[in-house]
Amino acid sequence: MPDIIDGNKISEEIHAELAAHLANISGRKPCVALVRVGDDPASISYVAKKSKVAAKIGIESRLNILPESTTQEQLDSLIDNLNADETVDAILVQAPLPKHLNEQATFNRVSAAKDVDGFSFANLGKLCQEDKSAFVACTPAGIIELIKRSGVETRGKRAVVVGRSLIVGKPLALLLMQKGIDATVSVCHSRSENLKQICKEADILIAAVGRPNTITADMVKDGACVIDVGINRIPCAEKKSGYKLVGDVDFESVAPKCSKITPVPGGVGPMTVAMLMANTVKSFFARSQK
Ligand code: NDP
Repeated sequence: MPDIIDGNKISEEIHAELAAHLANISGRKPCVALVRVGDDPASISYVAKKSKVAAKIGIESRLNILPESTTQEQLDSLIDNLNADETVDAILVQAPLPKHLNEQATFNRVSAAKDVDGFSFANLGKLCQEDKSAFVACTPAGIIELIKRSGVETRGKRAVVVGRSLIVGKPLALLLMQKGIDATVSVCHSRSENLKQICKEADILIAAVGRPNTITADMVKDGACVIDVGINRIPCAEKKSGYKLVGDVDFESVAPKCSKITPVPGGVGPMTVAMLMANTVKSFFARSQK
């Protein structure tokens, strides 16, 4: 059987490193402003989790909850206030926003110096330039950290990313091809032909699709490392909640073929939160040195 990459354990290690880094600061703590619009159940639980982890590390989190009916002007005004607030180091606008709001314009409105989600054009541009001051989107950054800390060789290896979204697939492809990581990267999407053959060439296969069982055993090379980003809720009568979480990978059939694989839940998810905290601490120190 493969090594199961334990995202909970690795994220706990990162939390402890960040807490140690903050242990000797005097004065105010780092502060992340969390913005949630509406009452999407998944967003409620993600924001609550982020607050909880922040408190554990020694980061202040300020929750800004706006009603579903919030206008773009009202949201922009909140972001402008948070941008101007000297006591706020980091701003996270929880996606997805209600449909009537412009998500990309909102991400771009967050000051680049506080954009710990890394979704603004400024930080995506810096990432492209391999500028170390960039805030890198948390899920892709977390995946790279998981790969590094699990001892997966990337140099010269074939990496295939399935999914080309702005929040996962695209920045992840940029990170994998960066100097020092040095993978040879292919990116697939819903229009890709020969998906199976392309995936089968991967030493590192990363699925960020949002569809259960997209990756099946016949698509995976023997000994590959498989990273499952997907979070899909499927009905499950045995669970009290009525659903269970699964990834994009058919874990049961794929796992026996892999050298390493991430589970869902407990793989990439906790790393996303850990990297939000790491970006907040990075912003705090960068701003306090100005
Ligand atoms: P998007 O819906 O934005 O992107 C999905 C991508 O998958 C698109 O590029 C799409 O192609 C591609 N795709 C869809 N169907 C297929 C297919 N049959 N074959 C190949 N490619 C396909 O999703 P996100 O990137 O935002 O999220 C992906 C998954 O990751 C979701 O389950 C989400 O919940 C999860 N997620 C998990 C996080 C975590 O912390 N673990 C954080 C963020 C996301 P096209 O561009 O052509 O439409």
